[in-house]
Amino acid sequence: MTAPTASSYPTTPSLRSLPLVTLYLTERCNSRCISCDYWQHGRADMTPEFVSRLLPSLAQLGTRTILISGGEPLIHPQWALIAEQLRASGLRLWLLTSGLSLAKHAVRAAQLFESITVSLDGSNRNTYAAIRGLDAFDKVCAGIRATAEAGVTPSVRVTVQRANYREMAGFVELARRSGARQVSFLAADVSNPHAFGRMAGFAADVALGPLDLPHLERILATMERAHAKDFLSGFIAESPQKLRRILQYYAAICGVGAYPPTRCNAPEFSAVIAADGHVNPCFFIPGPATAQVDGGLVTALNSEPMAALRTDIRERRRPECTRCVCSMWRDLDPAAAPDWSPAALTRPPHTRAALTLPLSDGL
Ligand code: SF4
Ligand code: SF4
Repeated sequence: MTAPTASSYPTTPSLRSLPLVTLYLTERCNSRCISCDYWQHGRADMTPEFVSRLLPSLAQLGTRTILISGGEPLIHPQWALIAEQLRASGLRLWLLTSGLSLAKHAVRAAQLFESITVSLDGSNRNTYAAIRGLDAFDKVCAGIRATAEAGVTPSVRVTVQRANYREMAGFVELARRSGARQVSFLAADVSNPHAFGRMAGFAADVALGPLDLPHLERILATMERAHAKDFLSGFIAESPQKLRRILQYYAAICGVGAYPPTRCNAPEFSAVIAADGHVNPCFFIPGPATAQVDGGLVTALNSEPMAALRTDIRERRRPECTRCVCSMWRDLDPAAAPDWSPAALTRPPHTRAALTLPLSDGL
C-alpha cells in the first residue's frame, strides 16, 4: 500500500461539507462491558431542542447520513422523536445499538432507520455475559430477529478480543441463524485511552496475549477455507486479508510486530458529536475543548484549534492513528460521486468503494 501524503488530502483547512455525522444520543448505557467506561460515568443526554438547533448546520454542510450511537441510543427516552426530527429533514439514519431493547422497539426502529448494526460480542450466553456483564444474549438475538421481521435486516458487529476470538466461526453461524444480513469483525481498541469513554487507564484483560496469536492465526486460516462462500458473498464483511489485520494488531500490542498500516481521512468528511455537544474529529481523538455545537457546528469545525488538529491527523502526527482499529478512507473527489447512504456505507468492501464505518478500516 502506498501511504497517503499530505498532498493527497484536500489542501484547505476549512471544512465546508460533512456528509456523515455521528450523534451520540446519550452517554448512558444499559450494558456493563468490561472494555468501556460509559456505563459507569455517562450522564448526558442529547435533547430534541439541541437537535433542532443543529439541523440548519447539517443542511449547510450537506450532511446526508446520521449514525446514531452512544452509549446505548435506545435507552434515550426520546430517541424516536429525535430520529423523526432528523428523518423529517431528509437525513438518512443508521443505528448502532447493543440490541438490548431492540426487540421492544423493533417496529419503530425499522420505520426510522435505514440500516441497523447490532454489536454482539459473545456467540453464546456465557461469553456474552463475560464481556457485556449481563445475561442478555437471548434478548439481543431476539432483537435481531424482530428487526428483520419488521423490515430492516440488521448486520452484526463483533469486537474480537481475548474472551471471544475462538468463537469467530461461531459468530458467522449465529449471525446466519439470527437472520442478520452480515457479520463484521473488528479488533478491540486497547491502546487508546479516549475510546469507549475511558476515564482511567485501560486495565481490563481484553487484548490477546502472545500465546493466543498462533491460535488466532489458525482460526483465520480455517475460516478462510470453511467460509469461502461467506467471504465471497459479503456475508462476512471483511476479506480474509482484512481479518488478518486483527492478528497483526494484537501482535503489535504484544510487541512482536508492527501495527497494520492505516489510511484515514475520516475527519475530512465526518465528525462525531457527543451527547454534551462536544465536537470530535473521529471516534478516537477528542476535539479541542472549545469545539462545542452551541457556538455553531460550522464554527466549531473551522475553529483554529480544530483545523490544526485535522492538519495533525492529515500529516500523520497523531499517535492514535498509527494504532487505530477502524481507520477510514473515502475518495472525496466530487467526480467520484460518493454514495453516503447507510446502505452504501455498510456494503461489503469488494462490492463498493472502500469504507466501512465504524466496522473496519478503510484499507
Ligand atoms: S461498549 Fe457500548 S454497549 Fe458496552 S457499555 Fe460501552 S457503550 Fe455500552
Ligand atoms: S485513523 Fe483512527 S484515530 Fe486517526 S483520524 Fe482516523 S479514525 Fe481517528
